[in-house]
Amino acid sequence: MDAVKIDQKIVDYRVEGSETKEQESVADKAATILETSEDGKVVRMHEKLERPEMLLGSTYKVKTPISDHAMYVTINDILLNPDTDFEQRRPFEIFINSKNLDHYQWIVALTRIMSAVFRKGGDVTFLVDELKAVFDPRGGYWQPGGKFMPSIIAELGYIVEKHLRFIGLLPQEQLDEQQQMLVDMKRKEFEEQTRQQDAFAKSEFPAGAQLCAKCNMTAVVMMDGCMTCLNCGESKCS
Ligand SMILES: [Zn+2]
Repeated sequence: MDAVKIDQKIVDYRVEGSETKEQESVADKAATILETSEDGKVVRMHEKLERPEMLLGSTYKVKTPISDHAMYVTINDILLNPDTDFEQRRPFEIFINSKNLDHYQWIVALTRIMSAVFRKGGDVTFLVDELKAVFDPRGGYWQPGGKFMPSIIAELGYIVEKHLRFIGLLPQEQLDEQQQMLVDMKRKEFEEQTRQQDAFAKSEFPAGAQLCAKCNMTAVVMMDGCMTCLNCGESKCS
């Protein structure tokens, strides 16, 4: 390089190349971390998306009648595009804590795979249906309140579902006004017909109620020749 004689005052300087290169790489990185569709939905999250120091989390306690020890399910969420129109809270990782070491192997395997699915991005709600469909060959169990759980894995599915509803990835599950009115009316009608004060009086649903195939609650009763669910309103007439 030839020597350049500086005969003017130096007012500004720049290091050749390095600055622009660095800016580009930062922008590139941001583009490859998140692949989004036109409506701002996350199509794919890249492995380069580093785990922030702090994540928002929720812990759910699961006490099943088939184990002496409770399980604690923690789901941590990541906040994408914070403070923008595309702000979205997505699950990022899941942990399960239990004193019961019988379950250790599958808990480690399942939670690692679920966390990997969460981090891949895209639609993760399919996990809910997959988990809820798992049956324990030794038979499921009844939750307090009369809900049937086909397995612990299925219960995990219900927890993930609850969490996804909580953070808005799944819509809130609600009967519309008319359905709710019908269910309330039917329930009142049935209670007036039977009016029993026995050991089951504490239960939310009447004694002798059968399991509803739609919502898994013990709430199906025979009314006017129809099997009617007092929880979700499902009705079959013979
Ligand atoms: Zn039902």
